[in-house]
Amino acid sequence: MVPFIEKVKAARSRASETKVRIRSNRVLQKMFDYMYSDMQISRDEYFHIITNAFSGVRSRNGLDRSHFSFVQKIYEYCSTNWNKVEATVTFLRQFDTRRLHSLVKKYLPKVIEPPNLVMRFVLDGGDCRGFQREIYADLTLLAILGRAKAAALLAHEFHHSCRAEIAAPYKKTRHAEVFQVLCWLESEGIADKVYDLGQKKPDNAFEPLLKLVKIRRRMYSNASDYLTLFDKALRKWENPVTIFRDNAYHPVGHFMADVIESTLGTRELVKTVGEPFDFLEACNKSAKILQKSSIFILSEEAIKRLTKIRAEIRTKT
Ligand SMILES: [Zn+2]
Repeated sequence: MVPFIEKVKAARSRASETKVRIRSNRVLQKMFDYMYSDMQISRDEYFHIITNAFSGVRSRNGLDRSHFSFVQKIYEYCSTNWNKVEATVTFLRQFDTRRLHSLVKKYLPKVIEPPNLVMRFVLDGGDCRGFQREIYADLTLLAILGRAKAAALLAHEFHHSCRAEIAAPYKKTRHAEVFQVLCWLESEGIADKVYDLGQKKPDNAFEPLLKLVKIRRRMYSNASDYLTLFDKALRKWENPVTIFRDNAYHPVGHFMADVIESTLGTRELVKTVGEPFDFLEACNKSAKILQKSSIFILSEEAIKRLTKIRAEIRTKT
């Protein structure tokens, strides 16, 4: 990715109208695909934002769109703190990726061999994500976090990659969205035990991230309310995805993982890695043991529906 970074760096001195021309390849294409599907930011908009940021144009266009403002601010930070981003590149070049396994192994079943994967350090709108064989990580976000937290965030993504090695295959059914929500709660909840972007303030002040920490902490405190709504959606056969908008499955999942770990222990929590239904069951079991009003216990009706959905989507392949 270095030639890409060099080109972006060179764009600093160019006029805002100048197009940054980057030869496309599979990595960039994949990055643009997920930026578009998750943030609805097209390749052209991406170049527009990044060129404006590096040429000092502070355009307010598109700020009404949910992810646009964050991406704009990330690149404004990148252009004005390029020395920090460069220092992060130097740090990452020397970073021993074998360290990641030691940071995650507490929350991984022992059967998982650390996968041989490729880390791709990119400028992808302040996002980080772990796929089965590769990790994409935004250089500016890592620079804002600071070295130790950047390494911890990479470990969070590494956990996702390791989970993908063992996650059971499931059939796509009409209740796929319920299963998707459970997957997010389990995978993000346990990976957040490794590092939670929404709980710790970054080393360098960056307003959108500080705001995110505030919002996620509040969501964590209200986790039981989210689970109450999830239960209600199950009983009514409604799509539960919107309940967890703004990535609420991160703090809610983290809360659930904490409840399981503090009640049943780390070993029981680790057994649920890649098993979203088991994760929910373990949380419910813990809630019953704790008997605290702040922890929601699923209704019998919701459990019956989950059992039905589980049987539907389970596959032998
Ligand atoms: Zn994650």
